[in-house]
Amino acid sequence: MNVQRYQLYINGEWLDPAGGEWLDTVNPYNGETWAEIPRGSHADADAAVIAARTAFREGPWATMHPRERGELLRKLGDLIAANAEMLAVTEVRDNGKLMAEMLGQMNYLPQWYYYYGGLADKIEGAVLPIDKPEVMTYTRHEPLGVVVGITPWNSPLLLATWKLAPALAAGNTFILKPSEFTSASALELMKLVDQAGFPPGVINTVTGFGHEVGAPLIEHRHVAKVAFTGGEQGGKTIYQSAAKQLKPVTLELGGKSPNIVFDDANLDDAVKGAVAGIFAASGQTCLAGSRLLVQRSIYKEFLDKLVKFASQAQLGDPTDKNTQIGPVTTPGQYQKIIDYIEIAREEGARCVLGGGPAPEHGAQFVQPTIFADVDNQMRIAQEEVFGPVLSVIPFEDEQEAIEIANDILYGLAAGVWTENIRRAINVSNALEAGTVWVNTYRAVSVMAPFGGYKLSGLGRENGIEAIKSYLQTKTVWISTAEETPNPFVMR
Ligand code: NAD
Repeated sequence: MNVQRYQLYINGEWLDPAGGEWLDTVNPYNGETWAEIPRGSHADADAAVIAARTAFREGPWATMHPRERGELLRKLGDLIAANAEMLAVTEVRDNGKLMAEMLGQMNYLPQWYYYYGGLADKIEGAVLPIDKPEVMTYTRHEPLGVVVGITPWNSPLLLATWKLAPALAAGNTFILKPSEFTSASALELMKLVDQAGFPPGVINTVTGFGHEVGAPLIEHRHVAKVAFTGGEQGGKTIYQSAAKQLKPVTLELGGKSPNIVFDDANLDDAVKGAVAGIFAASGQTCLAGSRLLVQRSIYKEFLDKLVKFASQAQLGDPTDKNTQIGPVTTPGQYQKIIDYIEIAREEGARCVLGGGPAPEHGAQFVQPTIFADVDNQMRIAQEEVFGPVLSVIPFEDEQEAIEIANDILYGLAAGVWTENIRRAINVSNALEAGTVWVNTYRAVSVMAPFGGYKLSGLGRENGIEAIKSYLQTKTVWISTAEETPNPFVMR
């Protein structure tokens, strides 16, 4: 196969990395190296920050009317729509997710650019009805400056877009540092950024390892904010690093979300919801419903139905439209999942489906795995596996379901399956989670805020709330007094 060599995109130019080194990009399905991405370093990070800062302060972006910013964003959305299939193919080669899933994501991706493009010229301050004489006081919502977005390998362009679109709509400039495992799609996106006509330096992409190129970006004094999606450890490191300069952060760090099935639920629907929660994307999703809480009165019946349904899942080539479960994205992640399956066995959880590798499909395939009779204190119930491994936990009643659901350090999402509206509302209100789905699971929209309670993160992405996190408020006071009053007394 022809190995494609990518370059960095800095200040509107395609550049080789300063260190002159590239990293292999491997297709997780067949193990082939199909591209090389630049191994960025401190020098590349510095160049990107200088470009983004100059574009923020001096270039055409700095004086551009917000409506024109919005038009550029919408143009980028149109270009993504026209290139959705190419982007999806790139994503599948990079992360091994299903073509059907990535095409769905890419076809929906333009909506972020349209939504935030539409918001760009609606960022309004206010004239305040101030309680002081002879002043006019108003607020302005201003961009922060240079924003750095750091993203993981599971949904590369989607998670980059959740940061990029609102940050740009607010008037910031942007540096993207995608995962070292899945950088090709970000660099393909930069070709579209170029075509859309963004001024140089407004959007930049540097690739490479987190500690080599990500860390210097975060530590750079001219970076105003960091938006990160990824693992808990990376999130904590980045938070600490940003804290040294009191930089605001948005963090989305995954979870161990409860998917709760009550005995009054439509069980066939709930089975599909449980499968969507854990086996879609091979479980490599931050919002995975990896703890399935099932009411004891239907426990056996539900488990039987679930095992029957899940055992029919088709593993295989992610580009095949009949495939439902593809490979795990990285060798490290594959090993982590296999290790957790072992841990669950050692802890005494009962394996009722799968429970190991599926080498007949490829080197990085894991069988859809279900552990029953899991105690919520076990590691398999408390720690994020990020793979197709489900822990099923029985409960007696509503109160116990809520207690188990909330007895966890994370709080990204939760599912509730019931036909009882009172129960649906009360349980949703009681759950410590940033998103609760009732009788559905794994739905996201550009219009709906998304983010975590507790260790699952800080701040929200999507919706109007997200754009506010890329703005800061300035209050302007104008005196209308004929004479300046006593200077020794606060006005
Ligand atoms: P990670 O957190 O290590 O990496 C995510 C991104 O952060 C990558 O771009 C990486 O280069 C960068 N990064 C890491 N450390 C950094 C640092 N100190 N400074 C600057 N940048 C840094 O995630 P990963 O290695 O891709 O996966 C590790 C675990 O994270 C997985 O096992 C999984 O549990 C979890 N994960 C969560 C999500 C999510 O959506 N929340 C996505 C992918 C992975």
